[in-house]
Amino acid sequence: MTDSFSNLSLAEPLARAVAEMGYESMTPIQAQAIPVVLTGKDVMGAAQTGTGKTAAFSLPLLQRLLKHENTSTSPARHPVRALVLLPTRELADQVAQQIKLYAKYTQMRSAVVFGGMDMKPQTLELKRGVEILVATPGRLLDHIEAKNAVLNQVEYVVLDEADRMLDIGFLPDLQRILSFLPKQRTTLLFSATFSPEIKRLAGSYLQDPVTIEVARPNETASTVEQLFYSAQDDDKRRVVKAVLNQRGIKQAFIFVNSKLGCGRLARSLEREGLVTAALHGDKSQDERLKALEAFKKGEVDLLVCTDVAARGLDIKDVPAVFNFDVPFNAEDYVHRIGRTGRAGASGLAVTLVSPSDMRLVADIEKLIKTKLQVENYPLDEDRSRGHVSEGRREERRDDRREERRPERGFERRREEETPRDRRSSFRPAQVSRDPFFEKPYEAPSSEQAAAASWEAAPKTTASRTGISANIKPKRKVAALFKSSE
Ligand code: AMP
Repeated sequence: MTDSFSNLSLAEPLARAVAEMGYESMTPIQAQAIPVVLTGKDVMGAAQTGTGKTAAFSLPLLQRLLKHENTSTSPARHPVRALVLLPTRELADQVAQQIKLYAKYTQMRSAVVFGGMDMKPQTLELKRGVEILVATPGRLLDHIEAKNAVLNQVEYVVLDEADRMLDIGFLPDLQRILSFLPKQRTTLLFSATFSPEIKRLAGSYLQDPVTIEVARPNETASTVEQLFYSAQDDDKRRVVKAVLNQRGIKQAFIFVNSKLGCGRLARSLEREGLVTAALHGDKSQDERLKALEAFKKGEVDLLVCTDVAARGLDIKDVPAVFNFDVPFNAEDYVHRIGRTGRAGASGLAVTLVSPSDMRLVADIEKLIKTKLQVENYPLDEDRSRGHVSEGRREERRDDRREERRPERGFERRREEETPRDRRSSFRPAQVSRDPFFEKPYEAPSSEQAAAASWEAAPKTTASRTGISANIKPKRKVAALFKSSE
């Protein structure tokens, strides 16, 4: 077979690590990129997370760096030789953990630095010397300024998820970082799409790059059934529940456009008896990790998330994806629905379209070059459309305000690492390292998933996971009054 790892003549320690990972053959991006990176050429790769691109750049990079491998304890013998830059903490952590696994049987040292964590342990690790440094741009600049990281011996730089880094506004940070690197180096750039900005970035920093595209960008998998239902805001939750019920789907991602909307929807669904978790940028690192872990274990049915929080995380094969809000950016539609129908499995993507969203649907049509039918979902029960409760009216007012502040651009930046010029005082958060990123998402066992919550009568949110993360326990005020309760 031509795409077998054995064709690469990888050094024994790397081949052993790959075998241990259980990889049988190379993914398309690996088959194309590894031989090129092994020659030392610059690469511009169009590939999303989930395609195996981490191994596509890190295996050849490790192979080329093996000549520097040594067991010396002197930090001077372990300068940074490869720098991998990513936009978010989660992605940085995920990639760093994978690199550690690939480098397991070598003497190469690797480390990860990202914001929101105490700098001290990172500093100690950097001072001991590391050959491969994975970092988010802002925190790396902090370490460069503090002289913890010296980059004058870097031979490889990887700009991973480059489009997202530009989206967040990291360009000035990237330019500064790249100015510290030797001119003579190999630069690898990976991006989900090749926008004009990405091409400009590549034009400035890559030399004669080999372009590699594994799937045409903006292509949706043919295994995903895409449905568009027209729905008023008030009806959307009912449509979600009806579709889940009708299809017998146990777990799903629900995408929304704003952080505020994300928390609110998760709470509403909880009140209706579904076990949900919200994943957005205002959640602490620890909360995000817990939400993802609970979803992977099948303890959470619905993960309500914003684009930024969900982008790139190694959770695959989700049975269904709902676009509760049509994304403002058509490319996000492709990313969102790419969560389902992976690796040949069939998936379902349902987009709920309010009347004012038709322009956004037209953008999606243009991008994926497919005519889309927006249908009515037959919600048969009676409903008192005219009646809107006070609370709901308040929610709607907030929604409209929030709509004007979409989770894009300026607002969106807070979601991820913050570009340097905008950073406020970051408080170090206590973050537990968590191996869940290493494990691909697996559907919960049939026992775990036996009764999807929406199939049963509404239940208390504490039924499966203890008290939901979205609902604060009520304070026992009565006890203060010496009531019997
Ligand atoms: P990535 O796109 O690099 O984040 O990789 C996504 C997932 O695919 C990770 O869980 C990897 O461990 C896994 N993976 C990478 N390469 C292969 C391969 N050749 N065969 C099977 N799984 C792989």
